[in-house]
Amino acid sequence: MTMIEVADGVWIRRHPELDLTLGLVVGETGCLVVDTGIDEAFGQAWADAIREVTDLPWTVVLTHAHFDHAFGTAAFGTCFATEGCREALVDTAHKQVSEWSGEFPGIATAPVVLPLRAPFSVDLGGREVLLGHPGPGHTGHDLTVHVPDAGVLFAGDLVEHGAPPQFGDSYPGAWPMALEKMLEAAPKVIVPGHGDPVTPDFVERQRAEITEIVTLCERLNRGEIDIEAAVARSPYPRKTLEEALGRTIRRRPLRRPDGR
Ligand SMILES: [Zn+2]
Repeated sequence: MTMIEVADGVWIRRHPELDLTLGLVVGETGCLVVDTGIDEAFGQAWADAIREVTDLPWTVVLTHAHFDHAFGTAAFGTCFATEGCREALVDTAHKQVSEWSGEFPGIATAPVVLPLRAPFSVDLGGREVLLGHPGPGHTGHDLTVHVPDAGVLFAGDLVEHGAPPQFGDSYPGAWPMALEKMLEAAPKVIVPGHGDPVTPDFVERQRAEITEIVTLCERLNRGEIDIEAAVARSPYPRKTLEEALGRTIRRRPLRRPDGR
């Protein structure tokens, strides 16, 4: 694994595991770490890689509570995230371990470090980094990291490159708006939580695809089309569509109180 400098002092580290992408922003007096990885050993390797780039003290932020982004924190110490991320870690850490420890045994013993509430910005010395929550999307608590002077925005799993977006804990109807809000910052480079860095036009396309998924789910829930017709029109595979469908409200046919 190598560190790639995507802009002056803005680094990513790409991983074969889940095609994961972690981030590092270096200022004059401090650095900022975006996500901590899959488990404690993974987090330690990530921390060691950071120390080859800079000795400056770090501030660590988590984009969201999924294990592949958040279970390596013990190697770093304190971390920051949205309040919703903290709640989600409390509520779901156990479930995530039972779902994923077969594939990633290290998460069973990874200490879950609960994040503190993130500030709106972090001064790294000669460089300010803005932390934001553009609204529900991939989860209810996604955090973005914007480096205005470099034109780089870390999107967590709000953006996914190389695979369809993951809808398991998502808010499909709100997701397109979150992406729109994110793009208002006019970043030149967007770093997804998985895959390679992308440009705004990629995010625009993903926003249109997610909007299409939402429309298909609405039509399915209204009984206007069946699942096969929806799969045929879906920009993403069946599994993704079904996951999104499971996260949309199923409207039941209106019925009068007397049953007519
Ligand atoms: Zn995720």
